[in-house]
Amino acid sequence: MVDLIIKKRNGGEHSPEEIAEIIRGYTEGSLPDYQLSAWLMAVYFKGLNDKETSVLIQSMMNSGEVMDLSDIPGIKVDKHSTGGVGDKTTLILAPWVAAAGIPIAKMSGRGLGHTGGTLDKLESIPGFHVDIAKEDFIRQVSQHQIAICSQSRNLVPADKKLYALRDVTGTVDNISLIAASVMSKKLASGADAIVIDLKVGDGAFIKKMEEAEELAHIMISAAKRMGRNITVVVSNMNQPLGHAIGNALEVREAISVLKGKGPKDLTDLCLALGTEMLLLSGKYPTAAEAESCLINLLEEGAAFRKFEEWIQVQGGDINVLSQIDLLPSCPIVYPYLSRESGYIHELKAHHVGLASMKLGAGRETKESVIDYGAGIVLLKKVGDKVKAGDILAELHTSDEGSIEEACDHLSSAFVTGPEMKKPDPLILKIIH
Ligand code: URA
Repeated sequence: MVDLIIKKRNGGEHSPEEIAEIIRGYTEGSLPDYQLSAWLMAVYFKGLNDKETSVLIQSMMNSGEVMDLSDIPGIKVDKHSTGGVGDKTTLILAPWVAAAGIPIAKMSGRGLGHTGGTLDKLESIPGFHVDIAKEDFIRQVSQHQIAICSQSRNLVPADKKLYALRDVTGTVDNISLIAASVMSKKLASGADAIVIDLKVGDGAFIKKMEEAEELAHIMISAAKRMGRNITVVVSNMNQPLGHAIGNALEVREAISVLKGKGPKDLTDLCLALGTEMLLLSGKYPTAAEAESCLINLLEEGAAFRKFEEWIQVQGGDINVLSQIDLLPSCPIVYPYLSRESGYIHELKAHHVGLASMKLGAGRETKESVIDYGAGIVLLKKVGDKVKAGDILAELHTSDEGSIEEACDHLSSAFVTGPEMKKPDPLILKIIH
């Protein structure tokens, strides 16, 4: 392993056998964290070429079980976000697309760093469980067209170990490592087609459009090699998506979208991602037909009813849907005020994510316990006019001591200027 670390450190190219050996050794536990950390840092600085990245994806995918979803009739379309702040799209999209008759058999993850995770959001619904045995998972999708569970222990174990290590060694934001992490999981989880929501901007792991395009092309090649259809939607993550950040707060917002009363940016992104999912299902020949089907399902309440059915099937208390106050909440709601008058020019998603984590909505260490009610509700976003003293955001927490640091992050997040500013476009590119 020392020779392999030195090879990569000096900019050399690994053979397929070398990469396979590194992944096998680390997954089995014969290679220690400190050597993998050094190798990851060498990869971070010297990069992996297309061939190396492709072998890394394959080796990680084959590090554990590869799911077979062929017992579920129809084309299974999966969706994955590369991670953002306020990104509750899966909660909305999964029932919305399932209501269109497309089976959703999805494995999701927990929050990471300043970004939130779908499983944590779902578990904020009292009773909702995400650990489902494989047979029950397949039965549930066949009967209800929808199931979201945690990644089984045996699915891509290499990513579980590597992701945790990358998180604490400053090696998350590397294109090859992100491509391998995302695609190994998506390919192993057995869907026929995949829509990737590739986030780019301040609150994403990918900051620049050129990097996003490179990552998109690596993902597309990996999917094609495995005979899977894929579409990559590159979306803006400079400011948080929607208004709510934090688990139960995001569930509330997801419910409002499913009732047709959600924020426009979040609704628009879900509609765009859903349209791509429907197109990949092969049931809808044009984007216009796919989109109008989704709009009808939302307007006539079918997407909301599918959400209700899904929450009930996975043990969640459906009373929360009519009595939203049954969701976890916090005793302290602190108003964060504007110090200036003008227009909001920037609302840096990374700082908002960190503020929300401080308030208790995310994990600072692997052992941290999440406060499901904690988080932030943004009352102003980019382009809004504000006066000094206006409430910019509400901070929800059970820990009074966290407010000061959260406010420090918010003062870095909000940038106000004298002239009017339009928000950047939300959907930057769709790559088929
Ligand atoms: N999401 C993942 O699953 N993996 C990454 O490396 C980044 C985002």
